[in-house]
Order: sequence, then structure tokens, then C-alpha cells
Amino acid sequence: MGRKLLLEHINEPGINTFAVYRQKGGYRAVEKALKTMSPDDVVEEVKKSGLRGRGGAGFPTGLKWSFLAKPEGVPRYLVCNADESEPGTFKDRYLMTHIPHALIEGMIVSSYALGAHTSYIYVRGEMMPQIRILEQAIAEAKAAGLLGDNILGTGYNLEIYVQPGGGAYICGEETALLESLEGKRGNPRIKPPFPAIAGLYGCPTVVNNVESIAATVPIINDGGEEYAKIGIERSTGTKLISASGNINKPGVYEIELGVSVEEFIYSDEYCGGITNGKSLKALVAGGSSVPILPANLITKTAAGNSRLMTYESLAEGGFQSGTMLGSGGFIVYDEDQCIVRNTWNFARFYHHESCGQCSPCREGTGWMEKVLHKIEHGHGTMDDIDLLWDIQRKIEGNTICPLGDAAAWPVAAAIRHFRDEFEWHVLNPQESQQRNYGLAHYADPLEPVVQ
Ligand code: SF4
Repeated sequence: MGRKLLLEHINEPGINTFAVYRQKGGYRAVEKALKTMSPDDVVEEVKKSGLRGRGGAGFPTGLKWSFLAKPEGVPRYLVCNADESEPGTFKDRYLMTHIPHALIEGMIVSSYALGAHTSYIYVRGEMMPQIRILEQAIAEAKAAGLLGDNILGTGYNLEIYVQPGGGAYICGEETALLESLEGKRGNPRIKPPFPAIAGLYGCPTVVNNVESIAATVPIINDGGEEYAKIGIERSTGTKLISASGNINKPGVYEIELGVSVEEFIYSDEYCGGITNGKSLKALVAGGSSVPILPANLITKTAAGNSRLMTYESLAEGGFQSGTMLGSGGFIVYDEDQCIVRNTWNFARFYHHESCGQCSPCREGTGWMEKVLHKIEHGHGTMDDIDLLWDIQRKIEGNTICPLGDAAAWPVAAAIRHFRDEFEWHVLNPQESQQRNYGLAHYADPLEPVVQ
């Protein structure tokens, strides 16, 4: 069994309440940080831990914190990005639902480190139950003197507010999130300036993912060096993975980074193997925006190395033969899955969610959806496959925010690894038109994807 840092007490009855969370050692990190450490000490521990952003980008959290501008007399903000909407990713929702105080405790520790006195948790608008849970947790923490003025008698003041999201996937992009938090349409901003210099209301702001913020709790409790002992190379600590698709045990798992992909898919501790004894066809390892991997590249890299659940190993081979850990949305496809149909489903999502500010994304996502739909429904030509390739190339790297890339990469990888399936649809129009299966079940009730 791998070590659990975030989900250690997940099976403890009542762990969602303040009383049980506290009884299990909760809020020790707040006491330690506020009473015995300076804000810079906390930043230093997070740097030592090697923690990388758990929302998808994987940027070192401590380094991100150290970029925060600190002009005199200007407030600084911490904003928690809880706008989890990536198809196949549902780990933050799980954490907020079952151990909300882990996030609140992490928010206090992180806000203290950054010198923030007002912090926000921006929660996906559809997650009303989680919004209520977090508001309750904040009220409990405040009643216990862990929020508000003069926390634990240390002189540190902090208020945390929960803000329901604007109802769009793009609001999870950090600058779009800030726009939305300011009450505007959630359009991504052109960067620079980055939020660390001019973020919320033009003030220095750090935007961190739910899991990243919660991870600061074990880092402060045990020390950054202890945290860094877990994992491999630059992939330290543990990671929440939301596993779905054709596996026997879909759910949220906390893994030590470095577990092999093979073990994660087949062992009973995690996914428990492929459903109905079918064979593995493909894997989307880190949410809908990462390149899909075909079976021959899932458990071994192109160089013959064991594929591990780490940032580096999943990326080995670049986009030619690798992928990304991304948000940890792990979607397994069995032999019956239609790659074209699944790719179209993702394309439809990105087209729907494009904010429309830049032409390559606004027009390109629409065209990708249309062409994929045409091919999948048996009306495509061989030229359409080339057209699709051309469209995704013209989107990648030519947009304001990463949604354009996120839409392009799955299409590129699907054609790169499964061109024969695209051609099959072209060569077998009648069978294509009759076929109405082969779409993975990765959507949970909150996902805006229609199957
Ligand atoms: Fe909007 Fe797409 Fe441009 Fe991002 S890439 S700013 S979502 S149009």
C-alpha cells in the first residue's frame, strides 16, 4: 500500500466535520506555521518539497509563490481554483466533498505564506453541494478561532470566501477565473502581466489548484524534505488520480508518484484491471486535453522503459510517443472503444467551451468538431483526415490561452496513433453510420458531456 497523505483518514466516519478532522490531527499545520514559522519559512518548506501544481500544468508551487510581487500597501490574494471541469477529472470535487477541512487548512497555511488576508475559493458553479460543504467548514473553522481576526492569538487575520463559478470550463484558466471573480465575463487575459504581478483587482495574486493547496498541510506537518522523499526525481509526493473508463474499479485514488502505469491499471489496490477481461486499447492519462496513448506505449515507453505515473515518465517521448500527467484524469479505453468517436466527443466539448476571443480556437474547434463528426458518421473522405490534421496544427500555439492547445493535442495524437481507424470510417461508410457505440463512460453526473 502506498502512503496516503491527503486521503489517510478518508474512511473515518465524520471526517468531513471539524470535530473529527481536528481529532485526527487536523489544523496542526496551521498551529505550526502560524506559531513557529515565518511566511518565508513556509514558502521555503514548500519549495523543498518539490510540490508541483496539481491542476495540470505541473509548475513548481513554491517557485510560483516566490514570484508574488510584494509592493507596500497593496493587498495580495490567494485564489483557490476549484473550477474542476475537465472531462474525466473529478478528484478535487472528491476532496472537497469528503475532507473539506484539508482544503481550508491548506488555504490558511498558504494564505499566511503569501501574506494574504482575504482569500477565495472559486468553485465550479454546478457544484452547489460542495459550495455548501465548504461554507460550513469555513464557519466551523472560524468558530474555532482558526479564521477571522488574530488567528490563534498570533495577530494574523484571514477571511476566506467561497465564490460559485461562472458556469464555463474556461473559467478554470487562471486569468479567466480572475475576470469571473471580479464579476466579469470569464475571458482569459493576455499575459503578461501574470497574476503574480497584476491579478485579482490588479493586485498580486496566486492561483492554486485545490489539491496543491491541500498538499501544503502534510508538507508543513512533516517538512518539505520528508515530502520530497516520496516519489521519483522531480515528481515528488502523492497525487490524486480520478480513474474512469473501462476499468473494474473507477474512482479517486491517492498514489505515490512513481507507481507504474501497469500496476495502476491492473492491481486490485487501484483500477483492478479492464472490465469484462477485455484488452487495453488506449489511455488518456491526464484529462481530456492530453495526447492519447495507444496500447503499445502505455506500460512501456518507446525507448522500452517502464511507464510510470510521474510527470517525466508520462512525457517521455514527447508528443510523438508520450503524453502528460495533466490533471490526473485517467481514462482507460478497452478494445471496443472507437477512437474517432471519443475524439469527436472531446472536440465537441472544446468547441462548446471556447470563449471565442481568438480565431484559431473559435473557428478551429468548430471545424474540428464538424470534420470529426463527418468522418465518424461515415461521410468523410481521406482528405478530411488531412484537413483535420491541418486545422489542429493551425490552432496549437496560436491562441491566447491553453484551451486552444488542449483542443488540438487530443486530435493530433488520435490521428498520429490511430490513423487506421479514421481511414476505416472513410472506407466503411455504411458500417460507420450504423455503429452507435464505442464511447467511454468517463463522464460523471456533473460533466457537461452528453453521451
Ligand atoms: Fe478563448 Fe480559445 Fe482563445 Fe482561450 S484559446 S482565449 S478559450 S478563444
